[in-house]
Amino acid sequence: MRLLALFFSAVFFTSGALAVGPVGRSLIFPAESDNSYVQMTPLKEMSMKAITLCMRVAMAPCGNPEVILFTYRSKNADELNLWRLEDGSLNLYLGTSNFKDSVYFQVPKLGPLETHLCVTWDSNIGATTIFMNGRKSLTKIYKKGHKVPKGGKVLLGQDADTFLGSFDRTQSFVGEIYDVNMWDSVLATSTIREFNLGIEVPRGNIFDWETVKLKFNGKVDVVKQEL
Ligand code: CA
Ligand code: CA
Repeated sequence: MRLLALFFSAVFFTSGALAVGPVGRSLIFPAESDNSYVQMTPLKEMSMKAITLCMRVAMAPCGNPEVILFTYRSKNADELNLWRLEDGSLNLYLGTSNFKDSVYFQVPKLGPLETHLCVTWDSNIGATTIFMNGRKSLTKIYKKGHKVPKGGKVLLGQDADTFLGSFDRTQSFVGEIYDVNMWDSVLATSTIREFNLGIEVPRGNIFDWETVKLKFNGKVDVVKQEL
């Protein structure tokens, strides 16, 4: 009898741990544009010496050489930009728009099937890693000692080349993106794996998709999405 009670409490605990709340809004960028974007308001200033940025993303096929996935732009620079290049590589730029000063990962190409994508970076060592559907890439060393400054704006859908302007339609994002969360720390690999599976993890302290304030511009459709 005691064994049975243990069994039931174990089942209860497991299903409790797997409880997943609705993640809410999913953003659909239906076509190339130079004016459709969604601005995300951070929960605190984005002065960061470590990063975990995650999103669920599916992309329309496109022949453009580079497609923007995430933009954090200050008056001075592209402070934190994530790109998908035509060969499928994912490129992270911190404080630069210069390709030679970015770090890239030759990973399977994002496409129409949704991918849970995370990137982590730690200034102490410069350790930078990509996670796709919970699978970890090799770690590369990038921008050791760098600090991402506060005071910029975060956009989905467009890359800014001036402070929230100079958008290029051939760099715009076309597809679906949601569950964009960000921390100013590096999450454990096991936590990122759980997040990929939809298991509840501590919500982002820079962006929490369930509560983030979004500002829309141009044509972006919103659908309800649950995990
Ligand atoms: Ca640009
Ligand atoms: Ca730019």
